[in-house]
Amino acid sequence: MTGDPQAAARLLLALRSAGVTDPRVLDAMERIDRALFVRGLFASRAYEDVPLPIACGQTISQPSVVGLMTQALSVSPRDKVLEVGTGSGYQAAILSLLARRVYTVDRYRSLVAAAREVFEALNLHNITALTADGSHGLPDQAPFDRILVTAAAEDPPGPLLAQLRIGGIMVLPVGQSDAVQTLLRVTRTGERGFEYDELRPVRFVPLVEGLGQD
Ligand code: SAH
Repeated sequence: MTGDPQAAARLLLALRSAGVTDPRVLDAMERIDRALFVRGLFASRAYEDVPLPIACGQTISQPSVVGLMTQALSVSPRDKVLEVGTGSGYQAAILSLLARRVYTVDRYRSLVAAAREVFEALNLHNITALTADGSHGLPDQAPFDRILVTAAAEDPPGPLLAQLRIGGIMVLPVGQSDAVQTLLRVTRTGERGFEYDELRPVRFVPLVEGLGQD
């Protein structure tokens, strides 16, 4: 991380005490400077373990939640990953250091454009960022080894389950959009077989169908 080294070191400690212990995840989070993904007023708070507002009324997730979700996803260097909900691009940048290839989609064109600029600046060339309704997944690129959803649906969307490779893992928040949701890990065990583990309570913005205006 660059920016404020002391604040960045405190953030890493906060990640560890929240239960982020996977050395590859901690290393990736140390290498990606969160300050590059938070613009304007809130940039000075980029190293705090809190969610912060970004454009289009959306949020960049809390770093410890990013760490725990990434850890639960068990990404390997051979994996092709789909992220639904690019937002600032912070989560995708971390995934890009752990995976072979990352596809990330958001319903807001302007968020995708801003995230692409940061990926370019960081030379993260294995990320493809697209404007799309991620509730339908990305059929052209399926199947995926890993899927991470960073917006909450009431249930795991069927198209995303269908686009998960057998043996693949999906991590997503599920539950009523205005309440506390549950972080769920879904493992595809066969053509029709899925295992579900409830990990912890979380709070995410809702997964909304259709493209946004901006
Ligand atoms: N992962 C992000 C945080 C995402 S906030 C980060 O690291 O900053 C959730 C994002 O999901 C928002 O940007 C929102 O626009 C997006 N979103 C909500 N519904 C969506 C849908 N159906 N398809 C794609 N993106 C969606």
